[in-house]
Amino acid sequence: MKNKQSKKEVEKEINEFFKNIKNKTPKKIKKIKKLAMSKNIALKEKRKLFCKKCFTPYSGKEKVRIKNGKKSIECLKCGGVGRWKIN
Ligand SMILES: [Zn+2]
Repeated sequence: MKNKQSKKEVEKEINEFFKNIKNKTPKKIKKIKKLAMSKNIALKEKRKLFCKKCFTPYSGKEKVRIKNGKKSIECLKCGGVGRWKIN
């Protein structure tokens, strides 16, 4: 099994992956998230690019609400709502 990637290599792979997030499948997103976790890499802003429940990448057509300094986005596929603070 090939599991000798350095943290830096994995970070690079993750960054490349997220550049093209809209063409990725939920299965692949789940995998890359696991990979990031295994290397203790924080996804930070990248977490806002996909649904945390079903791992579908946001298309930009979702309903976005802003309330009390928080932004929420509703997944078109599963209806799960992601929330985060607006910086
Ligand atoms: Zn979802």
